[in-house]
Amino acid sequence: MTAYPFEAPESQALLERAARVTPGGVNSPVRAFRAVGGTPRFMASAQGPWLRDVDGREYVDLVCSWGPMILGHAHPGVMAAVQEAATRGFSFGTPSENEVALAEEIVARVEPVEQVRLVSSGTEATMSAIRLARGFTGRSKVVKFAGCYHGHVDALLASAGSGVATFALPDSAGVPASSAGETIVLPYNDVEALEAAFAEHGAEIAAVITEAAAGNMGVVPPLPGFTEAMRRVTREHGALLISDEVMTGFRCSAAGWYGVEGPYDGGAPDLFTFGKVMGGGFPAAAFGGRADVMAMLAPLGPVYQAGTLSGNPVATAAGLATLRGCTPEVYQRLADVSSAIATATTQELSRHGIPHVVQWAGSMFSVFFREEAVHNYDDAKAQNSQAFSAFFHSMLSQGVHLPPSAFEAWFVSAAHDDAAVDKVVSALPAAARAVTES
Ligand code: PMP
Repeated sequence: MTAYPFEAPESQALLERAARVTPGGVNSPVRAFRAVGGTPRFMASAQGPWLRDVDGREYVDLVCSWGPMILGHAHPGVMAAVQEAATRGFSFGTPSENEVALAEEIVARVEPVEQVRLVSSGTEATMSAIRLARGFTGRSKVVKFAGCYHGHVDALLASAGSGVATFALPDSAGVPASSAGETIVLPYNDVEALEAAFAEHGAEIAAVITEAAAGNMGVVPPLPGFTEAMRRVTREHGALLISDEVMTGFRCSAAGWYGVEGPYDGGAPDLFTFGKVMGGGFPAAAFGGRADVMAMLAPLGPVYQAGTLSGNPVATAAGLATLRGCTPEVYQRLADVSSAIATATTQELSRHGIPHVVQWAGSMFSVFFREEAVHNYDDAKAQNSQAFSAFFHSMLSQGVHLPPSAFEAWFVSAAHDDAAVDKVVSALPAAARAVTES
């Protein structure tokens, strides 16, 4: 894609250099700007709500590393914790106290989570949760929802959101039919489809995995009653319910989406997965839930799961400092900043008569360029992605770094001060004009 080749010469030069040694020049596909065109910005540093690229330009960051940087970049408290941990060594390959403390923080926040196992990425968390559910139930099929992304786990890539949505890929090459064949993909927010799938395959289904509130097709919260319906149907058929809170965990509230929507009348999900915020920008993630299910894990039980860097002391120090820094004031600031940006965006788009809808999960939000509410992946795909690209590039050229895809949540941090919000708001009129001219 060469639609905007010369906007960022140093980034462009680095991209060309990167592409010689790395496929597409990036280490995670959405970073490549394929959906919106132009040159992805190579960042040199970040501070609070600001990113600085290698061309020396500054941007208000509305990606926040895709979620983790809830306190802002290079937060002083997290920085001190990381530096202190690093002086004591980088990785022990033995248990260490921070792992215990981080697990305790998570268990204390999310009431149904009795035990957790730490891993290094959200992908590992969901992959391990699926294996655990299969081991616990002795069944192999898994239900997932179209547009939900759970990392690049073979069995979970079918009709996934995020980069898979951005590139309009139905699936991934390299996933064996035997693996994909165990996955049943259903429309999100569709109780009838869920009941029909269980009526047909109920005895073979190990688990339903769902994004607690979907954020990888843009933000699409569960409709009232959908989570309860998943709980009821899985319980009736002896399957587990896995709530993927990698994105929503500790962001939508101190207890993630569970804290917004739960506790549920029919009971809580059996397993949860976490990542992003709980690592504070370092590789730390987790899966956890019912103690009797978690007891199936090695070394106690027969389900194997392990990791050289699991519970890494520097990563867990960053995660702990971040979670402990997530005070009520932080959540209030996230809500205020999100609301200010979303309100200003909707006002400006409306003033230009541009069809759009803003959707929320707690303080997490995204803007769809279509009139009607989005309840599932088909709805999300029916938005005007071209309008988003025009909007995106205008914002970028004015120093606002949005997610480079219409299928992603916009992330803010508690470090987004009034200057950062003002910069976003003042970029909106030109961005709305760019959409009308696109
Ligand atoms: N689950 C959800 C809901 C996610 O949003 C993501 C990442 N965007 C993942 C799992 C995978 O996490 P990771 O990229 O750390 O592997």
